[in-house]
Amino acid sequence: MKEKPKVLTTTGEKQERRENSPRYQAWLAEQAELEDFRREEELRLQQERQQQWERDEELAQQKWREQQVRLAEKEKQELRIREEWELEQKKQKEAEEEVKKKEAEKLKKQEDLMRQINDFITHGGEIPSSINISTETHPNKPLCPFFSKTGACRFGDHCSRNHQRPGISRVLLMPNFYSHFGIDQSMIDEYDTDLMLEYEDSETYQHFREFYDDVLPELEQFGWVVQFKVCCNFEPHLRGNVYVEYSNTQDAVAAYQKLQGRWYGGRQLNVEFTSISSWKSALCGLFFKRRCPKGRSCNFLHVFYNPGNAFADADHDRKYSRQQQTNARSRSRSNSPSPSRKRSHRSVDKT
Ligand SMILES: [Zn+2]
Ligand SMILES: [Zn+2]
Repeated sequence: MKEKPKVLTTTGEKQERRENSPRYQAWLAEQAELEDFRREEELRLQQERQQQWERDEELAQQKWREQQVRLAEKEKQELRIREEWELEQKKQKEAEEEVKKKEAEKLKKQEDLMRQINDFITHGGEIPSSINISTETHPNKPLCPFFSKTGACRFGDHCSRNHQRPGISRVLLMPNFYSHFGIDQSMIDEYDTDLMLEYEDSETYQHFREFYDDVLPELEQFGWVVQFKVCCNFEPHLRGNVYVEYSNTQDAVAAYQKLQGRWYGGRQLNVEFTSISSWKSALCGLFFKRRCPKGRSCNFLHVFYNPGNAFADADHDRKYSRQQQTNARSRSRSNSPSPSRKRSHRSVDKT
């Protein structure tokens, strides 16, 4: 008879049996697998985080480097701007100093000239060579025909020909001294007609007459005036130009000294020495015959008719005589249509 196996087992045996059971073994294996998976996963995640951190770090460093480059660039730029500004300031200062220096030199030259002129006026005698230095714009070029004849040229100092200016001379030029709306505004055609047809009765001519009667006696205070011409040209380099010739240089120099920089009718006088060797060549011969083909663009002197045809000898380059001039002047004065004109506000005044 087979003995029935004892069911009774100890706790240890139970335990052992359970541990040896396939289910338990399977569970253990699963646990181990899970554990491996967890470890692997953690390692993977850790590595990922590490990589991410490294990437972030790299990015941050990259950004920092770029920022540094930008900052350096900006600093460089600011430095460049500052340097450029400083250079500009330096240049400006140098230019200002140069101007100041030149002005001081010019002033000194003028003062020296005035002192020598004073000596010459007071003591007379030979013209000091130091004040009689002529200047030339282009000494190697041929003479400018306009400047040589009239002492004025539309191109001024930009003219390609040579402009010869005397240090001192008997003839003074006061550019743009006479002004009248008739020649200031572009009414030249009407003005020409006005001047030519109605002549001595026209408003324009009366205006000139007042000027003539005011200014000529002022100029005669310095000496014997042998020519006096007022331009009615439209061209800016001749417009309102006043020419006065004295019989001798000493008087011209005295007039120059007294008139330079003085005021007349709201205008400051600019006086130049000029050499007109022939009035016949300077004056437009066709203007009085109303035949100047150049009209408003003529480069020769279109002048107002002097009352009583005063200084006609000079116009024709004839030897002038004091008798003739005096006659002409007295005739012109007696013909004056406005004896009550107010001279006080027009006369050459230091104002
Ligand atoms: Zn010229
Ligand atoms: Zn002309």
